[in-house]
Amino acid sequence: MVDPNQYPTQRPMGAFRNDDVGVENPPSSSITRLPWIDIHQHGHTMSWGDRERFDLSGAEAAVFVAAAAHYAPYRPMHPEDVRFLWDDAIRRSHAIGRSHFFDPYVAIGIHTTGPKVDYEDLFDVLPEYAALDEVVALGETGISMTQYSEPMAIEDQKAVVREQMRVADDQDLPILVHTPSVTKAEPDEWLTGKTEEGHDLADPVLDPATAKLEATRMDVELMDEVGLADEQVVLDHAHPSMAEFVMEETGCYLAFSIGQWIRTTTVADVAGVIEEYGPERVIIDTDVAGMYQTQPFAMKRAMLDLVRAGVGEEEVRQVVYENPKGVLGLG
Ligand SMILES: [Zn+2]
Repeated sequence: MVDPNQYPTQRPMGAFRNDDVGVENPPSSSITRLPWIDIHQHGHTMSWGDRERFDLSGAEAAVFVAAAAHYAPYRPMHPEDVRFLWDDAIRRSHAIGRSHFFDPYVAIGIHTTGPKVDYEDLFDVLPEYAALDEVVALGETGISMTQYSEPMAIEDQKAVVREQMRVADDQDLPILVHTPSVTKAEPDEWLTGKTEEGHDLADPVLDPATAKLEATRMDVELMDEVGLADEQVVLDHAHPSMAEFVMEETGCYLAFSIGQWIRTTTVADVAGVIEEYGPERVIIDTDVAGMYQTQPFAMKRAMLDLVRAGVGEEEVRQVVYENPKGVLGLG
């Protein structure tokens, strides 16, 4: 290195980002050119400008999850309301695909966080929807702790999740499994009551203190009952409190939804799980959506922060690109 005393500058200089001045592992710019695939988000409910931010930050593909029960009408919800959500996402994916650079795909699900619908009517048409080219996954669904507007009994939830797992098995598709939401980093601070967006949540049907793991175990039991392969199941909205069970007792993927950091997990949590269990079955998705405060740059920001947290670039590539690509079967 050039002797700093020989610089023509008048002001003192700090160390440059250079190995020979003792900076360990200076960040490489290559992470900024790494593409990503978001396996769970609701980009079709966001603005054009938000989706442009996906393009600007390196999106290669995104799965629009059409199961957002937050769009339930102010009246009893009917099967055709759920089909509207599916139809709308499929229709919008065509228009979005023409005006953006990333590839839009759709996941269709009967969610368990909305008002109960006559779900058997939806079971009749679910296989035909799942067979569409645009549809690459079932979900989101999964045993939930609480619902928007009115509670849904666990047995009803199990029937809904079980049938979607059956269709996933029949059609060799992955399923995105929603697990109960955490409001803060602490596992006892669960999403109940009135949310900051003003949604009213019904009384919990599971004990908030144990719901995360309890619901995850129920989902895995249903998977085993149906005979669905572990590697087709993405246990989503992950929290460190479920990592040991998922990584040691199942072969499922563990997906961290990082679009709303404050309500779920931190980069350090994700880095810790990658360090302990490796990146082979870890996925990062965003769950960004238009109905709440959301961060269109969440994925790219998480990638940079993971590198800052000491996670290797190849590992980051695996959790934001290779694993989602493999699970979705995108060639
Ligand atoms: Zn979601």
